[in-house]
Amino acid sequence: MLGPALLAASRSDRIRRLVSGASVTRPVVDRFIAGDGLPEALAAVRTLIAQGVEATLDHLGEDVTDAAQAHRNRDAYLRLLEALGREGLGGHAEVSVKLSAFGQGLPDGHDLALAGARRVCEAAAAIGTTVTLDMEDHTTVDSTLAILAELRRDHPRTGAVLQAYLRRTEDDARALAVEGSRVRLVKGAYKEPASVAYQSRRDVNLAYARCLRILMAGDGYPMIGSHDPRMIELAVRLADGYGRSSGTYEFQMLYGIRDAEQRRLAAEGRRIRAYVPYGADWYGYFMRRLAERPANLAFFLRSFTTR
Ligand code: FAD
Repeated sequence: MLGPALLAASRSDRIRRLVSGASVTRPVVDRFIAGDGLPEALAAVRTLIAQGVEATLDHLGEDVTDAAQAHRNRDAYLRLLEALGREGLGGHAEVSVKLSAFGQGLPDGHDLALAGARRVCEAAAAIGTTVTLDMEDHTTVDSTLAILAELRRDHPRTGAVLQAYLRRTEDDARALAVEGSRVRLVKGAYKEPASVAYQSRRDVNLAYARCLRILMAGDGYPMIGSHDPRMIELAVRLADGYGRSSGTYEFQMLYGIRDAEQRRLAAEGRRIRAYVPYGADWYGYFMRRLAERPANLAFFLRSFTTR
C-alpha cells in the first residue's frame, strides 16, 4: 500500500523540500547514492572494481524544465566520461542516461534528447565504453526506443532497458534480442495504469521470466537487472541451458543493495555490474528505492528514531 504513496511523493516538490532538508536523511541517502560529486562517484567505482564488480554510473538529474538544464546534464556526463578515461576506468565502467534529464519531456524534446545522447555516446566510444538508456514512465517508451535505434546506427552497443511490468515488453524483447543488442531487463519502478502494465507482483514476476527467456534465447547481450534471487537463479539456469559463456550476459544490481550477493556473483566468476547513482538531485531516485521495499523504508524511518 505504501509503494504508490511513496511514488506519488517522489513527484511532490513540497515533500521533496521536507525530506531533502531533514538532517537525518543524509546517512540513509548515502546507502543508495555514491555522493554528490564526481570524486565520490569515482571512489565508489574504484572500490567496486577492487571487489570484482563493474559499474554503470548515473548522474542524477530528472525533470528538466528548459534546454539549458538539459545541456548542463549532458555536460555532466561529458565530464564524467572524460574523468573515467583519464583514470583508466573505461574498461570497467559505463554510463546510464535518463533521457528526461536530457530534455526529452520538453517541446521538441525528442530531438534535443537525441542530440545530447549522441554527444555522450561519442564521448563514451572515445574511451572504449558504452551508454545504456534507462527507461522511465510508459509515455516515454516509444521515444526512447526510437532514440535507441538512431544511436545504434553509429554506436551499436548502446544499451536499452525493458520493463517487464509493461504488457508490450515481450514484443519489445523479441525485437531487441538481436546480435550486438545490449538489453537490461528490469521489473519496472514507476506507477503505471493497468491498461499498460501488470499490477500484481506475481504477474510481473511471470512476465519477467518470459522476457528473460526471450532475451537469453536470442542473439543479444542480456543484462539481468534484478535483486530477486529467483530471477538470478533462473538466469543462471537459462544461461547454462542456452550454452552462454560468462561474457555473453551480465547481472546488474543497484549500488547499496545486496552488496554481498554482488560480491558472491563476482567471486563465482560471473559478470556483475552495480548501478551507481551520484549527484545532488537524488530525491526522485531515493524515493523510488523506498517505494520498492518496505525494509528500505523501515531503515529510513529508523534513522529518525535513532538520532
Ligand atoms: P523486487 O521484486 O523488488 O524484489 C524481489 C526480491 O529481491 C525480494 O523479495 C528480496 O528477496 C530481494 N531484494 C530486493 N531488494 C532487496 C534488498 N534491498 N535487500 C535484500 N534483498 C532484496 N527501473 C526502471 O523502471 N527503469 C530503469 O531504467 C531501471 N534501471 C535499473 C537498473 C538496475 C541495475 C536495477 C537493478 C534496477 C533498475 N530499475 C529500473 C529498478 C527495477 O525496475 C526495480 O524497481 C528494482 O530493481 C526492484 O526489483 P527487483 O527485480 O530487484 O525485485
